Amino acid sequence: MSEPDDPSRDRLKLHFAQRVIHQSRQVLEIWQRLQRDEWTAGSLAELTDANARLLQYAKRFEQQGHAELAETIGASLAQVAANRGRLNSQAITELSQAMQSLSRTGLRQGDQLETTSLPPLRKPIYIALLDSERAERLAQQMEYFGVTIQIVHHADDFRAMMDSRHPAVIVMDVDFGGAGAGIQLALEAQTGLERKLPVLFYSHQEADTPFRLAAVRAGGQEFYTGTLDSARLLEKIETLTRTVYYDPIRALVVDDSRAQAMATEMALNSAGIVTRTLMQPGAVMAHLAEFAPDLIILDMYMPECIGTELAKVIRQHERYVSVPIIYLSAEDDLDKQLDAMSEGGDDFLTKPIKPRHLIATVRTRAARARSLQARIVQDSLTGLYNHTHTLQLLEDACFRARRSQRPITFAMLDIDHFKQVNDHYGHPMGDRVIKSLALFLKQRLRKSDHIGRYGGEEFAVVLPDTDLATATRLIDEIRQRFAEIHYPAPPKELSCTFSAGVAQLQPGQEMPALAKQADEALYAAKHAGRNCVRQYGQD
Ligand code: GH3
Ligand code: MG
Ligand code: MG
Repeated sequence: MSEPDDPSRDRLKLHFAQRVIHQSRQVLEIWQRLQRDEWTAGSLAELTDANARLLQYAKRFEQQGHAELAETIGASLAQVAANRGRLNSQAITELSQAMQSLSRTGLRQGDQLETTSLPPLRKPIYIALLDSERAERLAQQMEYFGVTIQIVHHADDFRAMMDSRHPAVIVMDVDFGGAGAGIQLALEAQTGLERKLPVLFYSHQEADTPFRLAAVRAGGQEFYTGTLDSARLLEKIETLTRTVYYDPIRALVVDDSRAQAMATEMALNSAGIVTRTLMQPGAVMAHLAEFAPDLIILDMYMPECIGTELAKVIRQHERYVSVPIIYLSAEDDLDKQLDAMSEGGDDFLTKPIKPRHLIATVRTRAARARSLQARIVQDSLTGLYNHTHTLQLLEDACFRARRSQRPITFAMLDIDHFKQVNDHYGHPMGDRVIKSLALFLKQRLRKSDHIGRYGGEEFAVVLPDTDLATATRLIDEIRQRFAEIHYPAPPKELSCTFSAGVAQLQPGQEMPALAKQADEALYAAKHAGRNCVRQYGQD
């Protein structure tokens, strides 16, 4: 046996521990399929199996965090099995929380949690370009953003790589391996796949519509021509590879018939939708506030009131002006249905309704409502939370931190001498730097952290469950790495730095005081010469 602190032994251990990550990915993929499809007896067996293997690996490779989560998931699945294999709201909520933690859990090496907060579920990107120097440069830049790149040198290379592992995205020159051969190669790779792999095609010259159509048929999501803009490419890759983790949809069902309500719940639960039923419409406002549903399903005829009346009451409250309302009724008179829609409803479904139809309607409405909500809280240039919403999130997070007696840290970042970037390289280049820092932060921070664009070139990060020392280390690491990025700005290259201030919530402190302390720390960092991180109260 070698010494426990032998570095090569540690590396080997880490190598094998990767299997835990791989198995976590399998478990998550099965669970995420539920967001698109429906739960079947087969899903339960498959998930139970994959999870048992995860538990086994996690124990063998001493990954305590994963082992605990696999046990939690196993217990929930046993409950589902006891419920004749059916999901219910409690099981969906429990499983979804465990899955969310699983997607965030990194490998533990010795006693030290790996500090890299790169998401564990990242497949590589294959880059097949004719200009290999360009490919190398792209790979280098993208690796700063935590993306794994594999450069393809020949068509046969590509085939062999495809046989061993599927990438998250393929970047392909249309002429890779001969005129138009890149498209053929991509098409070949897609045959037999259930879900097409996204391909980003590049052509150094303009292409006509039939050619572009062929690219689309080969899975082409983009068709870039001229010079390949790495910032745009990176952005596209980020949207394609983001491991979005959706909270399950929540639906409030208001129906006076227990049998009808149960049928609705059962259908929705089988699609991973969390439900709550209310048989007395009078209590609706209290439940809306507490359950915070994505949408409401209203029975049209109830003894206490009719659906349209209840909808009016709900719409009188500003907070619920846009929450979708779906009427469910045996009414098939079209005129009456249209009347109901004009009274604040979004959809009218006639009983008896096919579960598939109900699920599809609920999913579409909820997705639409969520994306509208996102537009209200997001900054349009970067997709980060805007100023107002960041502070709202900070306030909520402070509240939770106080209640659970966990630390919480707030960081403010500001790009150094940014005015000079605009002055020397132009406003579009400035925008590009802002977007790139936004992307960089998204890639490097945990999914549970909230990242906001606080102002022009100012950013704010809410770090729940993180103390001042850890946050400082994390932000400082990001600062160092960000400074290493070189943006091509012919005839030269450009690089930028930022300064940051961090502060931790103190007992008895309110959110605005915390925000002010982070701001003061940022000011101190600027005064100390920029390109550094300062803690509040640090000399
Ligand atoms: P310091 O190191 O002290 O932070 O210097 P600075 O030049 O970064 O700070 P200052 O606040 O003086 O200038 C910020 C500049 O950021 C001014 C403004 O024109 C620019 N800016 C703000 N928002 C945007 C934006 O959305 N796009 C671009 N390109 N520039 C922006
Ligand atoms: Mg600045
Ligand atoms: Mg500024």
